[in-house]
Amino acid sequence: MTYSSSTVSKALATLAGRKEKAEEEAKSRKEEFIKAHPEYGEIEAKLSQTGVDAIKAVMGCKDPKEYIESLKKDNLKFQEAKKAFLTANGFDEDYLEPAYHCKKCKDTGYVEGVICECFEELLNKLSADELSVKTPLQLSRFEDFDLSLYRDSAKQKMSDIYNFCVEYAKTFDRNTYSLYMFGNTGLGKTHLSLAIAAEVIKKGYSVVYGSAHDFFGMIERERFGRSENPDGTTGETRINRDVLVIDDLGAEFVTQFTVSELYYIVDTRLAKGYPTIISTNLKADELEKTYNERIASRILYNYYRLDFIGNDIRQALDVNLD
Ligand SMILES: [Zn+2]
Repeated sequence: MTYSSSTVSKALATLAGRKEKAEEEAKSRKEEFIKAHPEYGEIEAKLSQTGVDAIKAVMGCKDPKEYIESLKKDNLKFQEAKKAFLTANGFDEDYLEPAYHCKKCKDTGYVEGVICECFEELLNKLSADELSVKTPLQLSRFEDFDLSLYRDSAKQKMSDIYNFCVEYAKTFDRNTYSLYMFGNTGLGKTHLSLAIAAEVIKKGYSVVYGSAHDFFGMIERERFGRSENPDGTTGETRINRDVLVIDDLGAEFVTQFTVSELYYIVDTRLAKGYPTIISTNLKADELEKTYNERIASRILYNYYRLDFIGNDIRQALDVNLD
């Protein structure tokens, strides 16, 4: 996966900050501790002396082997003595070590030259933030969904859909199924898909949301080098996020490029088992006409379909809900 250079520098800066904080805190913890327990400082001094002696030995002696072996033994002995001192005084044996955010890589971002999970996690989170930056995620919550705006004939059905979405968000995991939200404009598809996204984010998953128009536009600009983000993160991000929400599919300018992109996204995410939420006012046969049979069948056979019914509730509300 590739990331934009701004994402990488932000992630590196975060790691460096974590590392520095952990080490600074450990340093002052140790200073305080040695003030209170000078004996510990003595063991520590002896320990560092073994290192100094070892260097001197290597530089000066013809055959320092035996001497270095004995220094190694001393070194281990003092290390054990430090631990023993701490536990004897009621502290954990790593009490004076830096409390790194990530123990595996000690906040360097790498373990034996391989990128650490914590670094990957940061990159994912930061690039998702970058991509969803203009979205109204915080504006749509389940609590604000108003069922009273629907006509009586649609109320029961919409209440079922609402409850379904609440449950979907509640039981969400990375390998849950995808949703195909179908219905006319103004019935609350965007509201409910964003409410799901907001809940899922609270659970710690990464979400990318975009209207089809913005989303494909961004990928296209990246692909053809006209992007403000030339490293091409959107393209990879669309595949790797825990949830991808494509809003208003069919409202974008459909080209051969968008058709093949859409197929790639739908197909790859299904193969990986990652959920995607698509909202659209395209009926089953229109999906096929607008895109192609392969895309339509992937969505229709693999996504759970929710039919939104009723009249455009924006007329009642006079706000943009969908
Ligand atoms: Zn790490």
